[in-house]
Amino acid sequence: MLRGRLGGSSAMAARQQPSSSRHQHAHQPATRPPPCSLLRHGRSSTVVPVAAASLSSGLRASAGAGAAAARRRRASSTTTSLASSSRKPLRVSALDAALPFDFEHRARAALESERKLTVGIVGFGTFGQFLARRLAAAGHRVLATSRGDYTREAAAIGAEFFRDADAFCEEHPEVVVLATSILSTERVLRSLPVQRLKRSTLFVDVLSVKAFPKQLLLRLLPPETDILCTHPMFGPDSGRGSWQGLNFMYERVRVNTDCEDGARREARADNFLRFFADEGCRMVEMPCEEHDRVAASTQFITHTVGRVLGAMDLKATPIDTKGFKALLELVDNTRHDSFELYYGLFLYNRSSADELERLERALDEVKGGLFDQLHEIARRQIFPPGSSGGGSGSDGDNTVVAELLPPVARRSMMASSDEDEDEEEEEGGRPRNGRNGSSNGGRALPGPGTTAEPRRLGDGATRR
Ligand code: NAP
Repeated sequence: MLRGRLGGSSAMAARQQPSSSRHQHAHQPATRPPPCSLLRHGRSSTVVPVAAASLSSGLRASAGAGAAAARRRRASSTTTSLASSSRKPLRVSALDAALPFDFEHRARAALESERKLTVGIVGFGTFGQFLARRLAAAGHRVLATSRGDYTREAAAIGAEFFRDADAFCEEHPEVVVLATSILSTERVLRSLPVQRLKRSTLFVDVLSVKAFPKQLLLRLLPPETDILCTHPMFGPDSGRGSWQGLNFMYERVRVNTDCEDGARREARADNFLRFFADEGCRMVEMPCEEHDRVAASTQFITHTVGRVLGAMDLKATPIDTKGFKALLELVDNTRHDSFELYYGLFLYNRSSADELERLERALDEVKGGLFDQLHEIARRQIFPPGSSGGGSGSDGDNTVVAELLPPVARRSMMASSDEDEDEEEEEGGRPRNGRNGSSNGGRALPGPGTTAEPRRLGDGATRR
């Protein structure tokens, strides 16, 4: 196709030459093939642009005749110069090597403009604007509508804002991107005057949960529309600079190819996806249901931990470790996201509740390990080495260690040792290994020598 365009252009360029020039060119007894596409026309120095492709083929044809003429000239030892012949000579003066590339460039530009889409964004909040900025910068026409008025923000980005959803739809965007909050998407979609759009419109959603919008779009949209479910796995913070290497998940839920304009629809979906690929995203095609299973243990947990740490109000210090800096970055990456977004991740992904429970259990387990250690110290204080209580440790400085503990840990240790005493009284003074530690909410903790081995207090303090 590219070659066809080039051939067409060169023929056109040749047609645009003055007929005298074409005539001369064809009959010129050239001494050697002129290596250029800019020809000086006689003494007048008129520059005649000639397409390199047509020029070189024309010159090849005349090269044989030129060589024969040169031989004849040599044989007769005449010094007749070309310039002195009655015909005006064709003198090669410059090589315009850029010309073929110019044709290629023009052909590419035509192809690029075919790829430009009119994208309508519904929901012009944080993410809608983030996406619009990049789409507009890439040359796509961007329309937007939202519950609030974002006329100024849209203008600053280079997008057109429509307060009225009817007017928005009557612009007939080829692609409609739903970028509303997860919780409001159903309401927004139901209120969108879809009947004013073309029936072949491609609907795309960017919700951070996927099975829910997939079912919703399939249920509410006319069957003639196309559906692409996507999740850019980044946002205004994590995708602030380049999108190179950032994951972009998608599923072609419905692209109607068995219809008259099937090829165009497919190309349109490809064009939309190509925008992200061109920005450097790592494109991951995946069923929506699988996305939700995976995202619950990655994205939802990331948001949760970020929010928990954010609630702790952690602050940078002059001696921050790399690990701590990473935690602060996590807090920073998640704190700008609305609570509604986070809540949507929880409510509309059935795997999220399970993951939250797993996180809680893991925290309990980690805490349990720590309090087990305290419990062991308490036992040694109560039953010092050599006493009949069975304490086997030899370190006599546990009291000192206990005094160094923060008040909360000391209290927990004392409570724990009181419990032990009570239990041992109940059991007739018989020491036990297993116990029910109240310090961890009544959960049965493993005793020393079972699953959680007692560790030195220093272990945790030196670990970063
Ligand atoms: P969001 O709080 O999830 O959504 C804000 C958008 O939802 C705004 O456009 C807002 O419109 C609209 N909205 C909220 N409640 C509405 C209601 N009752 N009726 C009509 N519109 C309502 O924040 P967001 O970060 O911009 O996210 C938008 C979508 O992108 C979400 O589905 C999210 O899952 C997805 N996403 C976000 C990120 C991210 O990093 N932020 C990344 C990937 C995907 P108004 O502003 O006009 O009120």
